[in-house]
Amino acid sequence: MEPSTRIAGLLGGGDDGWSVFNRARAMIAAGTPVTELTIGEHDIRTAAPILQEMHRATLAGHTGYAAIPGTKALRDAVARRVLYRTGVATTSDNVMITPGGQSALFSAHAAVTDPGDVALFIDPYYATYPGTIRGVSAIPRSVKAHAENAFQPRPSDIDDAAADARSLLINSPNNPTGVVYSRETLEGIAAVCKQRDLWLISDEVYDTQVWEGTHISPRAISGMAERTLVVGSMSKSHAMTGSRCGWIVGPQEIIAMMINLATHTTYGVPGFIQDAATYALMQGPELENEVGAPFRRRRALAKAILARQNTVSLVPAQGAMYLMLDIRATGLDGGKFANGLLDAHQIAVMPGESFGTAAAGHVRVAMTIEDSAFESALATLCNFAASKACGTARKDRAAPAFSDV
Ligand code: PMP
Repeated sequence: MEPSTRIAGLLGGGDDGWSVFNRARAMIAAGTPVTELTIGEHDIRTAAPILQEMHRATLAGHTGYAAIPGTKALRDAVARRVLYRTGVATTSDNVMITPGGQSALFSAHAAVTDPGDVALFIDPYYATYPGTIRGVSAIPRSVKAHAENAFQPRPSDIDDAAADARSLLINSPNNPTGVVYSRETLEGIAAVCKQRDLWLISDEVYDTQVWEGTHISPRAISGMAERTLVVGSMSKSHAMTGSRCGWIVGPQEIIAMMINLATHTTYGVPGFIQDAATYALMQGPELENEVGAPFRRRRALAKAILARQNTVSLVPAQGAMYLMLDIRATGLDGGKFANGLLDAHQIAVMPGESFGTAAAGHVRVAMTIEDSAFESALATLCNFAASKACGTARKDRAAPAFSDV
């Protein structure tokens, strides 16, 4: 039996970017300890009071089918949070609760694209983006953000790709680069969306992880609320990755249609998870700051280590739980560097090439292990890079192409 071309082609046929990660997991399964700096999973677990609320809700009987759009209490809590953080008028009618941000990304694309429509996204990108777009039978088209522009996308590049496009997906604070889009970038993007009549899907799952500057939601830019769908999640802000609880915020009419989609796909999010999420959101920014604190601390540790050497350079990043390191001075691409580091020192990082072509020659380091182990792994990474760069420099010195040798 033939599967649909949609499902058969979901990954687009190329390398799915997970080969270093899979090798690391295989080494671990075979008994070799590996320092994993790969995926965006906190090294702390969901806080006990949130779990106690989840437990209370199960015992209180919130274990049947829950309200499909989300409970009123959770939709209200999300609306209040969005109003507090962005100043944009938001009610529960603007909110649908989803099983995580990933489901929200799928629903958002299903809601704004038809089969065969072009959906834009920015490269480097979170690994699931192209597959999510293919999953709704739209056509993913990437727009590069360049290392020399500190990975801020250029609105003119988006405009060049937008003539026949229906939507644009952006992500700030950004995974994998850690870049927080500037007001100038977002104003430029908003202007292109209005000019080209694009839907904007704004993935803001890292909105609480901003270490420098401020996060601006493009929904707050004049004229954007009517064409913007914001994707949010409890995963990163509250260390609730396994609870699968996220949301979409957008215009009431399209949210109502997405609720129809949820009825025919996910049938909502478990009630006891929603009660725990409501409780967590009601704790306000204090808990969010606590969850983000280890990444803020490790980023400062990393900056100090990186300042003591000159082979590896840090992409000027302001947020999220990752560091994007430029390792081009080693002469290696991200894949060779990451595989070499894994073989030589059993440290696993993600090649920049796992996130598209724009981050080639980079590696992404997740700041997701305990401080002293993180410091020591990063110092080893820097030494490894320096040893490779030395080799390159020696080879270069021997090369006749240089006029001074
Ligand atoms: N967007 C981005 C940029 C992410 O990094 C992730 C998870 N790593 C997600 C969305 C999805 O997160 P979740 O489904 O856990 O909310």
